[in-house]
Amino acid sequence: MDSNKSRREFLQAGLALPAVGIAASGGLNNFLQESPKVVYRTLGNTGLKVTGVGYGIGFNPVPEAVARAIDLGINYYDTSRDYGESEAIFAKVIKGKRDKIVIATKSPSRKKEDILNDLDTSLKALETDHVDIWHLHARDVPTSIPDEAIEAMRECKKSGKARFIGFSCHDPNRMADFAIENKFDVVQTTYSFPIGGFYRNKAVEKLHAAGIGVIAMKVVVGLTGLNLKSFDNPSASARSASEFSDKTVAENGPLAGIKWVLNNPAIGTTVPHMKTIPEVETNFRAMSEPFAPADEKLLYVMNEQIRPDYCRMCYTCSGACPKGMPVTDVLRFLAYNDFAGNFHQARTNFRDLAKEIRDIRCSDCSSCAVECPNGVHVQARLVRAQSILA
Ligand code: SF4
Ligand code: SF4
Repeated sequence: MDSNKSRREFLQAGLALPAVGIAASGGLNNFLQESPKVVYRTLGNTGLKVTGVGYGIGFNPVPEAVARAIDLGINYYDTSRDYGESEAIFAKVIKGKRDKIVIATKSPSRKKEDILNDLDTSLKALETDHVDIWHLHARDVPTSIPDEAIEAMRECKKSGKARFIGFSCHDPNRMADFAIENKFDVVQTTYSFPIGGFYRNKAVEKLHAAGIGVIAMKVVVGLTGLNLKSFDNPSASARSASEFSDKTVAENGPLAGIKWVLNNPAIGTTVPHMKTIPEVETNFRAMSEPFAPADEKLLYVMNEQIRPDYCRMCYTCSGACPKGMPVTDVLRFLAYNDFAGNFHQARTNFRDLAKEIRDIRCSDCSSCAVECPNGVHVQARLVRAQSILA
């Protein structure tokens, strides 16, 4: 990629929207609060009517928060075989309500037999006879879905144990054609304000045009405000003064981020992870409130605040480290801890890396060969990841 061109594109992407927001903003009190209501969207050619705000069940779901989401009418729930006991915990919450909700879960496996067994294990844990969507989990390159995995997925669908099949990925640019060629029904991908969205728009459009349902994940990870005071980072404390109160950031950052994602009609639903009832009730509003100038301004300010610390997963720096460091992946794992407060997931993912990658110490480099066009302090962030996750 022409790095000057890509840098120009990123800067344009980062600056274009907020300019409108700042000019049009009437202050911080105009976050809209109309009567929130359920708004459905259609998930590609599956025909499934899903709420624009779904729920990322993740590790250790909080039953009361999930129950509140179901009461409000949120109908899309995404989990995985990989998330410890989450399927079983979720199953207890949805008892008697199975017909009201769409369940998606995922297999970490690559071999046919394992994928078929994983589905049976998931059905047992979820106490249901079918899932609505059966994903392969975290497939970022076509070789991560071998022929036997495709065969297994088709068998799962044919048996009726899975109504539709898909995969989750962090970079749809590398996977969109593969999904279309192999007739997957849905793709779940990272998609967030602003770079993480703009970088993915072409692939998302392509999937949508092909009738593949697109589910946006990681929509709020950088926007919770958690990182600003949660770790001992001199640049973070220097940036902590802001015109937005902690409460505004905590409540409206995720809400604004979901609204921004839902502004793209090619997105079928979103799966923010939520831990509290107030979080669920606030994010619920994103379905029926318009994306307002105040939202735009807040996102712009937060984006500037997290700039040195939060990787936008644009993959521009892929292959730039001479030692083979998968920069985007490791920074994503660190974000699970620093931005989502999930140390367990961060460390589990880090420890799944090959030993030769885990053993790299970025503190041994006098300077870093990786230049981030989005202003992420790559070396400092990687040193932190290695110190807390290795
Ligand atoms: S660190 Fe790499 S992947 Fe992350 S935002 Fe910068 S260039 Fe993109
Ligand atoms: S600090 Fe060194 S090892 Fe780490 S990413 Fe940069 S070049 Fe690679």
